Amino acid sequence: MVKNKGQVQFHPVLAVILLAGLILIPTGAFYALANFSVSATVETQAFAGDHDDPAIWIHPSIPAQSMVIGTLKGTGLAAYNMNGTLVQLVSQDGGMNNVDLRYNFPLGNQRIDLVVAANRFSPINTLAMYRVNPNTRKLENVTAIPPITPTVSEVYGTCMYVSPDTNKYYAFITSKEGLVEQWELFDNGAGKVTGALKRTIDVGSQTEGCVADDVSGDFYAAEEDVGIWKYGAEPGDGSARTAVDSTGPGGHLTADVEGLAIYYTNKNSDPGYLLASSQGASEYVIYERRSPNNYIATFDIVPGNGIDGTFRTDGIDVTNVFLGPAFSQGVFIAHDGEDEPDDDGETNFKLVPWSNIVTGTTPPLTIDTSWDPRLVGREMVANFAANVTCGPAPLTVNFTNLSTGEIDKCLWLFGDGGHSASCDNPTHTYTEDGRYTVSLAVIGPASDDFTSRPGYIEVGDFDTTRLPLILAQ
Ligand code: CA
Ligand code: CA
Ligand code: CA
Ligand code: CA
Ligand code: CA
Repeated sequence: MVKNKGQVQFHPVLAVILLAGLILIPTGAFYALANFSVSATVETQAFAGDHDDPAIWIHPSIPAQSMVIGTLKGTGLAAYNMNGTLVQLVSQDGGMNNVDLRYNFPLGNQRIDLVVAANRFSPINTLAMYRVNPNTRKLENVTAIPPITPTVSEVYGTCMYVSPDTNKYYAFITSKEGLVEQWELFDNGAGKVTGALKRTIDVGSQTEGCVADDVSGDFYAAEEDVGIWKYGAEPGDGSARTAVDSTGPGGHLTADVEGLAIYYTNKNSDPGYLLASSQGASEYVIYERRSPNNYIATFDIVPGNGIDGTFRTDGIDVTNVFLGPAFSQGVFIAHDGEDEPDDDGETNFKLVPWSNIVTGTTPPLTIDTSWDPRLVGREMVANFAANVTCGPAPLTVNFTNLSTGEIDKCLWLFGDGGHSASCDNPTHTYTEDGRYTVSLAVIGPASDDFTSRPGYIEVGDFDTTRLPLILAQ
């Protein structure tokens, strides 16, 4: 039979298949269409070394001197000004894949801005630790020796968490085999950062991007081929999880699912957003930060302002903080896997004002510059120790101030009528026999704390029944 090529023949079964195809294609995993597009206003200096993941460091007092700290897989870390120019290249420590940071980490007698980077390549395979020196804006290596070395085959991704319950600091390590390790971070006693493994979660398959919510206590992991999972961020939270979104039918993600970031606010009415890099589509997906993380919108970064768009983004970060006139309502930062127009294999980061993103949806997304990430981990805790707690009169006791937080004033009450206003480590001599309650009040600009230890100091004949207690201190 010879068919007329110009004639369209109606075939009921074929029509159903085609119709189904037309319905499926726009919502399928491969061609999810962006709801809106934005353009960068700044891009960082490009490098031939492969950038992957950014973290935004907020300057403590001069917002415009904040920095973008980015990883260079083959090289290390690069820190950039908010206008994209290079501040520092850290190239002596290894090849970093992911980077995250938190403020107020207790190290020595200071509270530091701690940067954690996944030092990926074997045989390094460790977590690298840096402090940002706020005076020089330079990264200073504070990695303990030996460094944190995971049991997974390769440190792939990392993100940090500060527990709102305990104020403890954690780093999550993600891996190609899908195992996620949660390490508690602390001072090794010599002013360097070390850690202890607290939990291992089996996400399932290759997982890199992650982010933890320091207020809600949620931990999100991006299983690259599958989607985004939500776990509890506390080490005792086990492996229970819920799916936020998927790369499958009905999902809004296109594999690989890569970087995750949280936009915080102080608003109960709109606590902000979870953002994800949908790498396979070179798009970004926005969800509500509050449970159940409802999908809001998808956007991409297209050429504009003389800057190219983004392609196959790995890591992202976002902040609500005022960062000077160029980013007065915060910034969204995305890795660009192919910087143009030179097309010479270089990569960089694109910076988009948050104010340009919020108008992409109806109603617009929230702007709230009041949330302060520099307050996370800042906890006023009055605490002290003594070199000796009992003995015959006269008993001279050297007290150590172990208080944490931003402290302006202190008041010690030694229990025998003596007192001191020193915030350092006062010495007090007890001349009369007795049991004395020692108290310490600490006062800061934002909060205060008070602790009291009844009968902490015992002056008199040495009581051997207390010896085990003394030795245990
Ligand atoms: Ca990051
Ligand atoms: Ca990846
Ligand atoms: Ca990557
Ligand atoms: Ca590009
Ligand atoms: Ca460019």
